[in-house]
Amino acid sequence: MAGLGGYIRIRTKNRHTKGKRMANVGFIGLGVMGAPMALNILKGGHSLSVFDLNPDAVQRLVEAGATACASPKEVGAASEIVVTMLPEPQHVHGAILGKDGVAEGLREGGIVIEMSTIDPQTSQTIGDDLRKRGMNLVDSPVGKTSEHAVTGTLTLMIGGEPDAITKVEPILDCMGNEKYYCGGPGMGHAMKITNNVLATTIMVANTEALALGLKCGLTLEMMQQVMRNTMAWNSQFSTAMPKKGFVGDDSPGFAIRLAAKDVRLACELEEKIGIEPRIGRAGLAALQAAIDAGYGDRDTARLMFMLEEKLGVEARQKPAMAKAS
Ligand code: NAD
Repeated sequence: MAGLGGYIRIRTKNRHTKGKRMANVGFIGLGVMGAPMALNILKGGHSLSVFDLNPDAVQRLVEAGATACASPKEVGAASEIVVTMLPEPQHVHGAILGKDGVAEGLREGGIVIEMSTIDPQTSQTIGDDLRKRGMNLVDSPVGKTSEHAVTGTLTLMIGGEPDAITKVEPILDCMGNEKYYCGGPGMGHAMKITNNVLATTIMVANTEALALGLKCGLTLEMMQQVMRNTMAWNSQFSTAMPKKGFVGDDSPGFAIRLAAKDVRLACELEEKIGIEPRIGRAGLAALQAAIDAGYGDRDTARLMFMLEEKLGVEARQKPAMAKAS
């Protein structure tokens, strides 16, 4: 990619603040992911102005040294760079371009880093609008988990104009240690939606297959031992499920309502492009059933629990075994 040295991936280790230019940064959306990401920007030595609809989430960041703002517009007015980490496309659109949105406060030259999982069209529409106002948008949705948000080791999928990306790199480096330059505006979000429809439908497929095996009388350990050596092995099975569902934990994590949103956005995009989203629709139906049962705010691990309860089986490991797998 021009201006970024032609590389698509780098790992970042150096987080020393000495000699680095500190920026006035804003952060909107202090949830499971946003709160630790915002904390890591503070730890990077930057000043931070924050907004969230949830006053408790704001208070926790204020206690860590951030300044509370009354609106996204106020965050924009206090910042050179504003990060958004919100649930759905309409929240992002409203917070940036809506009444009292970031765009009303941010000065010319200001940059928004949009890190939520949203569709590439919404990302491009917001970016086009900001560029007409002399501002810019870099899309940088994130891969991995809330644990990686805490340790600042997220995978960043970056899209946008090279100059704008270069300007926000010190802030991105506070949150992630692996950066992939995916292309122009919206391409980071295109990468993330593509990733998530696959990762989520694999997780749904795992729950169905494991429930089948358990009901037939196989143990979880047996299925792990065999499948580790077959084409069925995948990192949802090897890494994600042992840390959550297999130890009986469905605290969010990655909430079912957010997984459903990602798959829904992918299905809509596939339909527009001319792909029939057969697998996406099947995954979405499983997620929607969990939402209808009242589990939208629980981790996706709940999908396995639902099948376990229905069939009278259990996919559990002792934490030590789960760690080793
Ligand atoms: P979350 O629901 O825990 O947090 C969202 C936060 O945004 C909440 O604090 C909420 O109060 C706030 N909020 C909602 N609407 C708002 C508005 N209009 N203005 C200001 N604040 C508002 O979600 P999360 O798990 O932190 O995920 C955030 C985004 O990151 C989502 O798009 C999600 O798909 C994506 N994501 C999540 C994970 C994960 O593992 N949780 C991983 C990668 C990407």
